[in-house]
Amino acid sequence: MSPTQITFDNPVTRYPKVEPAEDQVPEPGRESDLEPKADHGEDSYVGSGRLEGRKALITGGDSGIGAAVAIAFAREGADVALVYLPAEQEDANHIAAQIEKAGRTCALIPGDLKDRAFCQVAVEHAIDTLGGIDILVNNAGKQVFCEDITLLPDEQFDDTMRTNIYAMFYLTKAVVPHLPAGSTIINTTSVQAYLPGSQLVDYATTKAAINAFSKALAGQLAPKGIRVNAVAPGPIWTPLQPSEGQPPAKLPKFGEQTPLGRAGQPAELAPAYVFLASPESSYVVGETLAVTGGMPTP
Ligand code: NAD
Ligand code: MG
Repeated sequence: MSPTQITFDNPVTRYPKVEPAEDQVPEPGRESDLEPKADHGEDSYVGSGRLEGRKALITGGDSGIGAAVAIAFAREGADVALVYLPAEQEDANHIAAQIEKAGRTCALIPGDLKDRAFCQVAVEHAIDTLGGIDILVNNAGKQVFCEDITLLPDEQFDDTMRTNIYAMFYLTKAVVPHLPAGSTIINTTSVQAYLPGSQLVDYATTKAAINAFSKALAGQLAPKGIRVNAVAPGPIWTPLQPSEGQPPAKLPKFGEQTPLGRAGQPAELAPAYVFLASPESSYVVGETLAVTGGMPTP
């Protein structure tokens, strides 16, 4: 009898290296700004009912990592609400179509998460449309590089804190009273929490804070049956990067410093979020799951 033929993907070559031009676009980046295009799993993610009947609110779900998570969640059986900036409507429409194609309900909630009142409204809108929330993914983020702290505008420092930390706090505070036991909260931190880039002082600060927030809150909510965890991506090819996320000269080699030698694709993040959202990770609490292409984390 001949051995069964099994083919494995080699993680080094699963995706080609990303070698973008040094072009910069204004914030917020759009998928149309990306060359080469990113993979959100549109043609590859296969669900197996792991989130059947669940209801998820995903911030920054229009593009990049959040978009890949939204597609995966829908194909695993969840209804999904997406929060994003109004300028990203086109990207959000594309992901909404993917969610609806999977047979799930999608709520589109454009607005600015720096605004506390909007965070409250977004949660209410999601609950009204989906009939509840039992997964919150705090994933929206702002990353703008600055190589000299004396030139880092106070407004930028404030906006980075508000987008990456305050919004997470406001949304979580608004959602928790509605979460039944078995719910999960997943926050997006970064390898920058451990290996902070010298040009990302404000951003790296927020990512370390997100880790501490997640672990502290995990201890507080675990007795209620609500699990809090985080995901720490390494360099992932998303609209965040060419929209002032990196000095332009760094873009052509983006991700080459990883042991895998290439940037990750948003589709490679989705399984980590599915795992942490689903009941199969029931004993995983206060963890930060690194998806970094091998960049070491503590
Ligand atoms: P992205 O640009 O596709 O997603 C970020 C999203 O944040 C945007 O789509 C936007 O909708 C949302 N957002 C930003 N400011 C907002 C505001 N004020 N109100 C509402 N929405 C707002 O890029 P991404 O890389 O997928 O980013 C997702 C998360 O992943 C971020 O938290 C980012 O810090 C984190 N991350 C990214 C990388 C990477 O290399 N791309 C690495 C580590 C961590
Ligand atoms: Mg976007």
